[in-house]
Amino acid sequence: MDNYIVSALKYRPATFKSVVGQRSLTTTLKNAILTGKLAHAYLFCGPRGVGKTTCARIFAKTINCSNLNAEGEACNECESCRSFNEQRSLNIYELDAASNNSVDDIRTLIEQVRIPPQSGKYKVYIIDEVHMLSTAAFNAFLKTLEEPPHYVIFILATTEKHKVLPTILSRCQIYDFSRISVKDIVDHLAYVAESEHIKAERDALNIIAIKADGGMRDSLSIFDQVASFTGGNITYQNIIENLNVLDYEYYFRLTDMLLANKVNDSLLLYNDILDKGFEGSRFIGGLASHFRDLLVAHDAATVKLLETSDNIRERYAAQAKQCPVTFLYRAIRLCNDCDMNYRASRNKRLLVELTLIELAQLTEGGDDSSGSGGSPTTMHQIKKIQPANMTAPAPTDNHASVGSAQQAPPPQQPLQEEQREQVATSPIQQPQNQSQVVIGGMLKNRSQKKVEVPVVSKGQLGISMLHANEKNNEKKEKAISAEVLEGLGNDPIAEDRLRFQIRRFAQILPIEHKALSIQLPNFVSKLLDATHLEFVVDNEFVAKELNEVIKVQMKNFLRKELNNAQLEISVRVSEKDENFRPVSGPDRFKFMAEKNKSLIDFQQKFGLELN
Ligand SMILES: [Zn+2]
Repeated sequence: MDNYIVSALKYRPATFKSVVGQRSLTTTLKNAILTGKLAHAYLFCGPRGVGKTTCARIFAKTINCSNLNAEGEACNECESCRSFNEQRSLNIYELDAASNNSVDDIRTLIEQVRIPPQSGKYKVYIIDEVHMLSTAAFNAFLKTLEEPPHYVIFILATTEKHKVLPTILSRCQIYDFSRISVKDIVDHLAYVAESEHIKAERDALNIIAIKADGGMRDSLSIFDQVASFTGGNITYQNIIENLNVLDYEYYFRLTDMLLANKVNDSLLLYNDILDKGFEGSRFIGGLASHFRDLLVAHDAATVKLLETSDNIRERYAAQAKQCPVTFLYRAIRLCNDCDMNYRASRNKRLLVELTLIELAQLTEGGDDSSGSGGSPTTMHQIKKIQPANMTAPAPTDNHASVGSAQQAPPPQQPLQEEQREQVATSPIQQPQNQSQVVIGGMLKNRSQKKVEVPVVSKGQLGISMLHANEKNNEKKEKAISAEVLEGLGNDPIAEDRLRFQIRRFAQILPIEHKALSIQLPNFVSKLLDATHLEFVVDNEFVAKELNEVIKVQMKNFLRKELNNAQLEISVRVSEKDENFRPVSGPDRFKFMAEKNKSLIDFQQKFGLELN
């Protein structure tokens, strides 16, 4: 063990060709070298452990090699290559910006940049985790990056590209390193295992690759760790036991339970998983991935999307056969919902358990294996809507069902009460020739053009919301008002009751005036005198809508509810700045600062920026 070298170092690629999983990128770099089209600055970005620094080093070595081979790889024999391989080359300079992020560190680097290489053509500066540089350091660096000496090449590496200043980004050629696929990692691990005379089951390597999440360095560290405590015999079983992995096994078992509607068993299994120290969110995320994998395994065409070994792939295919596609669709949706609500949930365990309970009920009641889509309840409802004499095949959504209902002869027998309710709750467009249109459960008269407000004539509120256009407004107003005025008193109007009733009115507005019903309680309104309520709104459009669409109804409603026959409503557009309500950050700040000057001091003292 004296000379033990960790695999990540020992098997660190020395040529572009041996870099795992970044083929297109290494080819581009190689071509750039072969054609002599080198940029002065490169930015390598991507997740950790996928080969950014490795590629930067290979690149530095290759451009200095005096004897490139035909494939454009470094020869590893010339003096320059050997000095690189023995880590004594003066032409490569690495700075870890995570720990050396000050202006002084950058100044030292800039000093160095001035000195031309003693041997070889290029000096290569690799700045790792470049996003960690302080702003001052960035600025100090910018000038050099803009106009570096011809013998200098910068390679900046980062895991977080979005944190790098745009001024830097725009001066670099950007290379995006991707996660390495599970298969590539497994292949490489198998190669390392073979070279080290370690026995390793492929399924086991697969787990390692998944656990490392596309990072080769992490995979190799885990591999080393496992190889040492298993004494050079890596099996699936000891990986599961030692790595604390939430493996397929759980998910396969759980899926069987869910398909068999075994709620209790699935809750117990979840308890086991929690006992082993796994987070609920990881569990639910893993379950969603499992369902996704099952979905993918359903079809020979997509099965290749499954990043796993052949053994496991067969198991997926076998379980996929047991799962109706609709079950998988809905299961994925449920898991996804759970995942999204997880963070906000106060009782996370209950949330996951509820999801499991729902999952376990998905296949209850059969009828699902057809994979025809649409839940059983939906199908049921849709069937009810159809006229009795319909013989066409069952449509799959509401629109289609209504469409075919129209083609069928009008039903002779009146709809059952139950059916009528069904119709009323569907979002339906019916043809012009039918005078009664049902929207959102309210009846609406279609015969008058421009008449847009649905009407409840016999609602428990006792108001008629017959709507009219402007010309008809007055006539109707009188007629309706007379009806409403009958027997009304003259109670004083209390401000709080008035607000309350306005809110109530807003709530009963039909769905097509949803926007108005939300805004209404927030409009600036005040009682000008004992009976005159004035709305002050922001623009003509709102004023028009209020005047034309709901003013009369609102007046009658309020008169009745407040028992005051005198109440009048007027609407006017506000003067400039009258209703000023700051929306944007700076506006709000200005608004607040006018009331409290010390806010400005605050802002200046801390150099705060508002946006
Ligand atoms: Zn060489």
